[in-house]
Amino acid sequence: MAQHFLLSAEARTLSLRDIYRGGEQSAYETFKRMRWADTHGQPVCPACGCLDSKPIKDRPTFRCIACNKQFSVTSGTIFASRKMAYVDLLAAICIFVNAAKGLSALQLSRDIDCQYKTAFVLSHKLREALAAELADATPGGEIEIDGAYFGGHIRPANFKEKRIDRRKAVHQTGQRRVVVALRERQGRTYTHVVTSEADGLSIAAKARKGSTFYADEASHWDALHDSLVAFRINHSEAYSYLDGVHTNGVESFFSRLRRMVSGQHHHVSPQYLYQYANHAAWLEDHRRHSNGANAFAILGGALNHPVSRVWAGYWQRSN
Ligand SMILES: [Zn+2]
Repeated sequence: MAQHFLLSAEARTLSLRDIYRGGEQSAYETFKRMRWADTHGQPVCPACGCLDSKPIKDRPTFRCIACNKQFSVTSGTIFASRKMAYVDLLAAICIFVNAAKGLSALQLSRDIDCQYKTAFVLSHKLREALAAELADATPGGEIEIDGAYFGGHIRPANFKEKRIDRRKAVHQTGQRRVVVALRERQGRTYTHVVTSEADGLSIAAKARKGSTFYADEASHWDALHDSLVAFRINHSEAYSYLDGVHTNGVESFFSRLRRMVSGQHHHVSPQYLYQYANHAAWLEDHRRHSNGANAFAILGGALNHPVSRVWAGYWQRSN
């Protein structure tokens, strides 16, 4: 039997040992090469694009010859105003990509010995950066579509006589959301957080023309047939029909997201559920890449992603 990819040496191209052995200077050089890839790590002023700058003594900062502004390798990126050492940031990204089912902020804070708040915001910034890969993309081709509920758990009362019917609408907390996922059979996984699974219909309608949909037997998908090409699988009959009709790909994504939510985060707020859905989709789509390739994909994405509107100064605003 062929060896599973994740067990092979090709899957392990980056380690914490190598990152820390390389040290701060080596990590800094990595950041420069990833940020200024076109100039092989030579600084480019983010304000005016000038290639001439002077390093400022004893600081990892440059002054632009043309516009006189100061900048660093992380200026204007999602890592702007970073306080963490480059080597720790690189290690955090390595730990983040190695966690196939996601990573709680508490665990990351223990691993790199930083405050919980720092790990929380850093993780969310990384999620924002990785989701940007699909910002301008539209799903198309053969697409498996499905939805699943997350959040809004109602804890049952201790005594039986005090327990309520948790299925009733009047008892709902308003915290429950649906993640609708569109998984291209030959490509990427797109996620949307909505309040009802039926909202998936309008999401499907935005896919590229000529796409083919695969959905399960849930009745709200019946309307897919009105305007789109759709095939259905009845899971009470089979998980896959012989003609290739199944939704196993999108089910596999939901399996990862469930494990992430129940095994790592335990509680997710409806407000930030989209971040975990994007994270699980990214992990699913990159599961056959080496951990080094994935770490550099995230680092490169983060260094090309503007300052986060949601996460920059998050704790300063919420305190
Ligand atoms: Zn400049």
